[in-house]
Amino acid sequence: MAKRIAILGSTGSIGRTAIKVIQALGQDYTVIGLSGHRQVKLLAEQARQTHAKVVAVTSSDLAEEFRQLVEDQDVEVLVGHQGLVEMVQREDIDIVLSGLVGIAGLQAVLTAARMGKRLAIANKEPLVVAGHLLMSTARAHGSTILPVDSEHSAIFQAMQAGCRKEVAKIILTGSGGPFRNAKPSDLEHVTIQQALAHPIWNMGPKITIDSATMMNKALEIIEAQWLFDIDAARIEVLIHPESIVHSLVEFVDGSVIAQMALPDMALPIQYALTYPQRVAGISKRLDLARLGSLTFEGPDLNRFKALSLAYHVVRTGGTACAVFNAANEAAVEAFLSDKIRFTQIIELVAVCLEHHNPISDAQLGDLMEADTWARRFVGQMIAKASEVRITRP
Ligand code: MG
Repeated sequence: MAKRIAILGSTGSIGRTAIKVIQALGQDYTVIGLSGHRQVKLLAEQARQTHAKVVAVTSSDLAEEFRQLVEDQDVEVLVGHQGLVEMVQREDIDIVLSGLVGIAGLQAVLTAARMGKRLAIANKEPLVVAGHLLMSTARAHGSTILPVDSEHSAIFQAMQAGCRKEVAKIILTGSGGPFRNAKPSDLEHVTIQQALAHPIWNMGPKITIDSATMMNKALEIIEAQWLFDIDAARIEVLIHPESIVHSLVEFVDGSVIAQMALPDMALPIQYALTYPQRVAGISKRLDLARLGSLTFEGPDLNRFKALSLAYHVVRTGGTACAVFNAANEAAVEAFLSDKIRFTQIIELVAVCLEHHNPISDAQLGDLMEADTWARRFVGQMIAKASEVRITRP
C-alpha cells in the first residue's frame, strides 16, 4: 500500500519541494493532508494537484476563503492548532512531514510521536525547544524520527557506518553564510537585503537570516544533541562554504564518514520518506571532478557569538533552549521589519538569556511560557532601545 503523508507547512519552501519529491516518487507515496498559513491560493492549488483529502489553515476566515477556491473538490478543512493535531491523528496518515515555521506545530508534532507515526522533521523548533519531550515520547510510542535538516540527514546517514557507541564526534558543517569574511565592524551596517542574499541555499527569510548570524548552526547543535543523544561537547562546527559535505561523523577508530550531495533539500526530504530504502529521485548528481576542490575552516567564535551561546544553552538545559529560540525569532522579526540592526539580533538573544531563570525538567506548558516570556522581553528591550542603544548589562 502507498505511504500516506501529511505535509505541515506545505506552502513554505520545504513543503513545496516535498510535493515535487512525492509526485516524482510515483504511486508508492501519496499526499493526504496539507497545511498552510496565509497563502490560501497556493494551498488550494496544492490541494487540487495532490488530491489531498484534508487541509488545515490558521483561521476560520482563511478556511472560508479556501473552501470557495476548491468548491468542486471534496476536501475536509480544519482550523488552527487543534486542526493540525486532528489531522496528524487521522488513521489514513502514516508519515507526518513537518516544515512549519517556529513552534507553531509543536503540539501536532508531539501528537504524531504519541501516535507512533513516522515523523520527518524539517523545522528545528520541535527538537530545539522540546527535544527531551519529543525524543522520549517517540521512544515510548515507537515513533521513528527522521531528520530532514540537511546536516542532520547527513549525520543520520553517516551514523549507519557504525553503532552509536562507536561514534567519537559529530562534525556539523555550515556554509558560514554571506558574512563569513566580513569584518566585525562591517556587520554593524548589514542591510536586510544583504542578509537575505545567501550564497548557496535558497530558503525562507527566517532561516536565511539565521544562516547569516550563524544562529542556524547554533540551533543545529541543539537539534543534533537530541536527535543523536550525544553530548554537545562532542559536536563540532566546521565551516565549508561550498555546502557539498553536509556533515560528518568521526568514529572511535578515527574513520570519518561524510555525506555529500549538491545543496538541494529534495534529497533529505526524500530520504526521510523512503528510509531505509534509497530510490532514484529528482536530485541533481554531484560531479566532484567538475567542482575540483572543497574548502574547510574552523568557525570564528568571536565573530559569531551564536555558537558559543548554543553550547552555554545546552549546558543550562530546561527552558533555556526555548528562550534561546524564541528570543532569536523575535529579534529576527524585528530586524526584518527594520527595527534593529543585524548585530543586535544576537545581542538581544544573549541579554534575554541572562535575564532568564531556567526551569529544569520542563513540561510543554513551561516551554510555552518561556517562549512567550522571551518574546515579550525582546519586545520590551527593542522598545527601550529606540530611546537608548542596547547595551549588555
Ligand atoms: Mg541545516
